[in-house]
Amino acid sequence: MLAMFLPFFKEVVLTKNIQQKMIDAARSSYPIEACGVLFGHIDNEKVIIKDIVETENSADNPTVRFYIDPELFYKILTTAEEQGLEFLGIFHSHPAQPNPSNWDLEYMKLHQNVWIIIQSLNREEKKPKMMAFQWYDEKLFDVKLKIT
Ligand SMILES: [Zn+2]
Repeated sequence: MLAMFLPFFKEVVLTKNIQQKMIDAARSSYPIEACGVLFGHIDNEKVIIKDIVETENSADNPTVRFYIDPELFYKILTTAEEQGLEFLGIFHSHPAQPNPSNWDLEYMKLHQNVWIIIQSLNREEKKPKMMAFQWYDEKLFDVKLKIT
């Protein structure tokens, strides 16, 4: 993933269906962190997610971290670009609160795109917590999620 000049994002827009796909990925992977890639378009300062691809978590300790194999990432990226979609960011799950870990923060500084984190543990809640973040201008921002 090369560093890009990305705008400061005001909103992340996604459908209920895409949101549900990420929740299902988070819940079915538990206690392992689910992870995957977000694709779509950037329209002014809005990020519009059109598709997600869940990937295997290749981390050595996948209950506390995630890692996407670069070769697999490249393959997924190529397919998406052929469909005219841009790479927008990453989603992954945490068993507890959907706040970035210190490890996440280090990678957010390197990849200042959209990071969606989903809480995977709470099975009683119909809609688990899901948050979007962007590291921008030396700070972490919550980005508003708009479900359509
Ligand atoms: Zn994390």
